[in-house]
Amino acid sequence: MLLQRVMFLPLLSPWSRQTTRNVIARFPAVQLAHFRSNSSVANVKERTLIAVKPDGVQRRLVGQIIRRFERRGFKLVGLKMLQVSEELLSQHYCQLTQKPFYSSLVDYMTSGPVVAMVWEGHNVVQSSRVMVGPTNPAAAPAGTVRGDFSLHVSRNVVHASDSLEGAQREIELWFQGKDLVKWDCWDQTLTCEK
Ligand code: UDP
Ligand code: MG
Repeated sequence: MLLQRVMFLPLLSPWSRQTTRNVIARFPAVQLAHFRSNSSVANVKERTLIAVKPDGVQRRLVGQIIRRFERRGFKLVGLKMLQVSEELLSQHYCQLTQKPFYSSLVDYMTSGPVVAMVWEGHNVVQSSRVMVGPTNPAAAPAGTVRGDFSLHVSRNVVHASDSLEGAQREIELWFQGKDLVKWDCWDQTLTCEK
């Protein structure tokens, strides 16, 4: 009876979403049922690596970048700030080590701390590339991170994995499994089809 009532709470006007949360928090049986229903949401396990580069950290853009991914509906499952080593960079950018700009890229990426994140959600790899914009900010449309916050290809504020395989490789490079948090977003059924 209680469970039925709680399930229909969102339809009852005097009950706010906060009231629903309070009831769920107070009754463990309801809490279990709630998480069980969320776990049936399909196709939300895709993950990508997003990193705010040293220019983005220095310019205090971390919060604004996180905000864009939260607002879109993606779920943050890993977050850390670090001074990147040349060793990590050479693995991360293994396809670029022969490029003429590689040594300046290393200088740039090691010039200060980086904030690395793992975001999860439907189609997150492709969607986040669109949100970040093209590599060269001169070609990045307004509304993208690079289009809004940067001018030059050598200072383009943020990294985003460019493929599913690349994302998996980069996440394993930057994070240990134990540092990634498995959790259920309460609004998951609102942002994704069941
Ligand atoms: N880069 C650069 N000069 C270039 C091309 C790339 O400094 O002519 C830097 C830039 O910071 C870029 C990074 O190298 O983000 C990695 O290049 P990639 O082609 O992988 O671009 P991304 O995937 O970051 O868009
Ligand atoms: Mg790339």
